[in-house]
Amino acid sequence: MSSLLERYEEIVGTEVIHQLRQLAEPLKGVRTVHVNSTREGGGVAEILHRLVPLKQELGIHASWEVIEGNAAFYKCTKRMHNAFQGTPVEIPPGLLENYETINEENAGKLRPALQDSDLVFIHDPQPAGLLRYFSERKGKWIWRCHIDASRPHRPVWKYLKRFVRGYDASIWSLAEFAQPLPHPMYVIAPSIDPISEKNADVSAEEIQDTYSRWNLDPKRPIITQVSRFDRFKDPVGVIQAYRMVRGFIPVQLVLAGGGATDDPEGGEVLEEVKLAAGDDPDIHILELPPDAHREINAIQRVSTIILQKSTREGFGLTVTEAMWKGKPVIGGDTGGIRLQVINHHTGFRVNSPEGAALRIRYLLKNRDKLREMGHKARQFALENFLITRHLREYLTLMLAIMY
Ligand code: UDP
Repeated sequence: MSSLLERYEEIVGTEVIHQLRQLAEPLKGVRTVHVNSTREGGGVAEILHRLVPLKQELGIHASWEVIEGNAAFYKCTKRMHNAFQGTPVEIPPGLLENYETINEENAGKLRPALQDSDLVFIHDPQPAGLLRYFSERKGKWIWRCHIDASRPHRPVWKYLKRFVRGYDASIWSLAEFAQPLPHPMYVIAPSIDPISEKNADVSAEEIQDTYSRWNLDPKRPIITQVSRFDRFKDPVGVIQAYRMVRGFIPVQLVLAGGGATDDPEGGEVLEEVKLAAGDDPDIHILELPPDAHREINAIQRVSTIILQKSTREGFGLTVTEAMWKGKPVIGGDTGGIRLQVINHHTGFRVNSPEGAALRIRYLLKNRDKLREMGHKARQFALENFLITRHLREYLTLMLAIMY
């Protein structure tokens, strides 16, 4: 059985793997821990599932801890998330008190894992409050923000800033997202794992099964958006775009999504989506369990075009996942989608359902262009958004912070 790293060699080349080993050499034995708020669902969990074992394989003492909260906690942190993305939400003092209490409780539970760690990576707002309970900490603490916080709702940012300003450094997905903080700030774009169940090649048989399993017609174009049911992902806008195309071309629409344990709004948004879809037999709303990685992989592969019509997006792993599968992406002109969808090259960026519909129709009518964009998308993902690049940047940052 080859090592994990060796399996990437075929994709990214020997040099890249060699460089990772070299960079990791001085970090051997370093104790590092990542902390987030869910083991399944959403982009952060997706990344940690691979990043942590890879660090381990490089000789770093890496681990991953997940904080536990109650319903009120996730309600509060979802509001924080929405506020970071610009929604003017108020968070009642009771919810904030609960946020702090939950962080305090988790600090107690996680003390053995975090206290003596050399580097602690705290992901997003949920566990950001842990730091204040580690006044005797030995290592460096880094806050990793995955959210588009370029225009946050000020009162909520002001509240969270009290916690995050104390970190030794912070990491953001795009430079534009970074808020002024009194510590070094780094920019690292997220990534996908090309050998995971979500992204590895799929057999022709499995592809065939996918059509029948979800009742999809292989002869007609399939437009897909894979996302948690979240308003910022604009699933209803996707349905509107589909309807504008449907009058001209007999497309099918797939909205595939599940929940994340730290996202309490999913059920409500799903109901809105079902209402918007009505009884159209060509709209397929697939509610998938959090471990449906192979299914999502195959769905992305049977799709003609992938949409990610978000109105705010930290990065949008789903965009890279689609690009890696050679699909052009029509994405909302926002946040991390701008890094990935190079307008007119790897896909199109749009600002409305009308814009999305126009681009879908264009690509379906110009199949050569669709294929060309798909090739470029795959190449762009290969060069920029694979986990090996991500890991290299983490290692470089760890070296910069530790030495
Ligand atoms: N995802 C999934 N099941 C779903 C919906 C999404 O496994 O039902 C995955 C998706 O393939 C991607 C990640 O969750 O890997 C979502 O990351 P992204 O950055 O696109 O959005 P986030 O949910 O973090 O806002």
